[in-house]
Order: sequence, then C-alpha cells, then structure tokens
Amino acid sequence: MGEEEESALLLSRSKRSSSTFTYCILLLIASMFLLAVYFSSSATAKLHHPVVILISSDGFRFGYQFKAPTPNIRRLIQDGTEAESGLIPVFPTLTFPNHYSIVTGLYPPHHGIVNNVFFDPLTGQQFTMQSHEPKWWLAQPLWETVLLNNLSAATYFWPGSEVHKGPWTCPTAFCQPYNGSVPFQDRVDTVLNYFDLPSHQIPSFITLYFEDPDHQGHRVGPDDSEITQSVARIDAIIGSLIQGLEQRGVFQDVHIIMVGDHGMVGTCDTKLVFLDDLAPWIQIPRDWVQYFTPILSIRPPPSVDPAHVVAKMNEGLNSGKVENGAKLKVYLKEDLPERLHYSDSDRIPPIIGLADEGFKVEQNRTGKKECGGAHGYDNAFFSMRTIFIGHGPRFARGKKIPSFENVQIYNLVTSILDIKGAPNNGSDSFPDSVLLPPA
Ligand SMILES: [Zn+2]
Repeated sequence: MGEEEESALLLSRSKRSSSTFTYCILLLIASMFLLAVYFSSSATAKLHHPVVILISSDGFRFGYQFKAPTPNIRRLIQDGTEAESGLIPVFPTLTFPNHYSIVTGLYPPHHGIVNNVFFDPLTGQQFTMQSHEPKWWLAQPLWETVLLNNLSAATYFWPGSEVHKGPWTCPTAFCQPYNGSVPFQDRVDTVLNYFDLPSHQIPSFITLYFEDPDHQGHRVGPDDSEITQSVARIDAIIGSLIQGLEQRGVFQDVHIIMVGDHGMVGTCDTKLVFLDDLAPWIQIPRDWVQYFTPILSIRPPPSVDPAHVVAKMNEGLNSGKVENGAKLKVYLKEDLPERLHYSDSDRIPPIIGLADEGFKVEQNRTGKKECGGAHGYDNAFFSMRTIFIGHGPRFARGKKIPSFENVQIYNLVTSILDIKGAPNNGSDSFPDSVLLPPA
C-alpha cells in the first residue's frame, strides 16, 4: 500500500467515524426533542375537557387597548381572534342588561333585565343591582346550562351569578357573592387555584369580572389619563392570569374570551336636556320617571294616554325653544327602531326617550357643574362598542372578524364546551364562522 493509498483509507475511515458521530448526535437530539414533546404534552394533558374563562372588563371601550402599552392584551389579540371593530353591546348599553345578554344570548326583554333599575308593573316592586330573587332573572345563564350538561362552572362575579337557577345554587367553593373591594389579584388567584384541582374537578366554565375602567370612565370621561392608568392595570392583571396559567402548563389549552359590556362617552354640564323645560307643552312629574339618562323611561299613571305624552313632549323638543331639545327623541316603546329590540316586555315602561350621544336628561336645572362619562346610549354609537378577544385551541391565531352583537357569545361558549344550549337570539351558524373545528 502506497502512502497515498494509506492516507486515503485513513481519511475515509475518519470520514466514516465522523459521520457515525454526527448520526449519534442527531439521534440524541431527536430523542431529546421527542422526550420534551412527550413531557410538555403530558403537562398540558392536565385538561381533559375544554375550559372557557369568560373575562369582563367593565366599560372597556373599543380603542382603550391603544391608550397604553398593553402587551398582555396584545398577546391575546395576536395569538387569537379579535372583533376588528369591536363588540356591539345590546340596547340599553348598560352594565346589567349587557352582562346578562352575554351569558344568555338573549336581548334584554327576553332575559328580563331591561335596565340596571326598573319596576315590575304588576307588583310595583323595584329591581336594583342588589336583587337576587330568581323571579327577575329569566332565561338560562351559561353557568346553569353548563350544570344541566353535567359539567361544572365557577363564577368570580357576574351579574346574575348569585341567583339560584335550576341546579345552580352559587356554591361557596365556586361562586363569590359580589364584593367590589376584593383586589383584582385575589380574583385571579382564586381562578388560578381551580387549575390546581384534580383534572375532573376543574370547572369547564369560569367567569371573571373587573369593575375597571368603567369606574374611572364615569368620573373623568374616556379621555383622561386616569383611564390610561386603569387600562394599564387591567393589562397587568390579564398578564398575571396568563403567567399563572403558563406556570400550570395549561395556557395554550384554556379558552380565554375577553370582553367588555359597553363603551363610554364624555358628558358635560353643557350637554343637558331638562324635562321641566317642556312645561309649556306638558308637565312631566318626577314620579312618572323611572330612569332619567341616557335612556329616559317614563310610566304615566293609567289615566294618562302615553301617546298623548309622547306627542306633546316631541312637540316641545322640536319647537326650537327648548335648550338642546333636538338632542332627545321620545317614542312609544313599540315605535322604537326594531334594531334596538326594546319593546317586548311589560317591565319596559310605555315611553322611552333616547338622548343623543354624550347628552344627559335631568328634571330641572340644579346648577351642578360636572364633566365625566356615561353609557346606556343607542348601541349604534361607536363610542358604546367594547372589545372581543378569543384565545385558545378553537380560536385561530391572528384572525380578525367583523363586529357582532354580544348575544352571539352564548352559542360560542356552548360550541367550545360541546354542550347543548338553550334557545336564544344568537345565530346557530355564528360559532362555525368564528371557531376552528375541534382538534
Ligand atoms: Zn358596565
């Protein structure tokens, strides 16, 4: 063997041994990768059933997400599905009617919560936000639906969640009586603790409610720096929820639906309509008025014809002689635009006035100077829109969907949980247009 041949042989041997070495390394890397996949999937396999966390940030007007750096909300948006121009609330754009529409899929006349405060015309009894008697709360909220399908639910605050409905009794371990002073972090920690339970005990449906930024919006209006700070705080609390779910290895498996109940618009003492200014046309006594603003609700005594009251009020408002008169329109409830879905309940008084965006209705001039924010207006106003973000296995990443009404959310949740829901005003085909098929 010549020197050249020998070195060629050595070279080929060393090539062979080096390729064997590379092969072993690749095999090692591949097995490590497979092990990692195995362990990560066994960690996320903790959830043996679909779980939905429904979060409400009260008064989170669409667009607030751009007021401050919101890395956590942005993460949900980028990796999930978003209503590109916001979520449309039901009319009236108030807290209780909307929260209950979200969990029943029904317009307010059908679920019974037609306002934050209203009267039963038969008994004369008043509903307030502290009323938990089942007689007020019609229809089937999601926590009841979930139980009727033999799954479990938990609520960390939601209007109606304390009301006993069917099998739902607001159990101590899975339902908190409303207390606005509970720190947001405590609420998140309680929800996270549910994911430390044995798999079969983790609730399939969980609500989580935050009063902000509605709270600040009323006081200072939507454009104050207090709102910016409040939005940043909500983002941080969403961040702590995400982090806690990640630590438990379930973040990618859980469905998070983040919504608000309505938006917010600035109001000021120059944008007022006074009922006493209508006196030359018709006197509206204080005790006829069940709710002033921005949804004026009037029930005159039985001896007074509502149609006459409406005609006289509009005559005055349109006369050009009443300050801001053109900013209030009064209707018999059956003549309200159909799109408002606001006539089919005797809890709605016969006369309804709609204030224009940012205007308020008061009985008389008090001289009180105040600027702040309000909601409750026509749900066609863009300022009343809020957010919708869906994140989780059934929500496509980076998907934008057109705006839709919040009555669609009930069917979305029952579809994700694969359970049978109650009849409602949402469309049966809506979930198919939004959700990915189950894996
Ligand atoms: Zn609200």
